[in-house]
Amino acid sequence: MGILRALGALLFPPKCVFCGRVLEKNEREGRVCRACRRSIEYNENLRPPSGALGEVCAPLVYSGNVRRAILRFKFRDRADFARPLAAFAADEVRRRFAGRYDVVTWAPVSRERRRERGYDQAMLLAEAAAERLGTVAVSTLEKTRHTDPNSSLGPEERRENVRGAYRATEPELVAGKRVLLIDDVVTTGATMRECARALRAAGASEVLGAAVAAATAD
Ligand SMILES: [Zn+2]
Repeated sequence: MGILRALGALLFPPKCVFCGRVLEKNEREGRVCRACRRSIEYNENLRPPSGALGEVCAPLVYSGNVRRAILRFKFRDRADFARPLAAFAADEVRRRFAGRYDVVTWAPVSRERRRERGYDQAMLLAEAAAERLGTVAVSTLEKTRHTDPNSSLGPEERRENVRGAYRATEPELVAGKRVLLIDDVVTTGATMRECARALRAAGASEVLGAAVAAATAD
């Protein structure tokens, strides 16, 4: 596999994660082309605290090429998108939340989902974001039951769907700490809020959220 991958990189030059265009040499590091950097929609606002969850940053708008890239990352075996996508979340965290968190963690998928997908996309994002922020991400939560994908549900149903679905597995890692919770997309915030509730129940003093993109529930 390693050899095949190396050969692949040689034969197929790196492409923009958003539009698929072959990248110029100086665009390769972030894996996003100049045109996309200019044209993607950025969110200017932080989401205000809600329930157990403090402020949430999510720099991109979940639409168009951003949405397509995140869906490919989640469902099409493009684990290699983790680093370029996480860079957006990490840079926003640095801008907004510098010095405001002690522990970086993520909103995990269920065991069934991980088996089916082969990876936990939120863990890959958190690891890549933490690395860019000069720290490491630690596992602190588990999803105790499999839930239906939230994407087809309305706000109230989303809340019900994830209620009680997360549990803190390492309370000693979060007790008295300010936790930064990473996820791919924030829509109503139901998943992040539920994770925050579990972390606060385990003694976390504050939970901030960071996602790559924010969607409006519709
Ligand atoms: Zn592009």
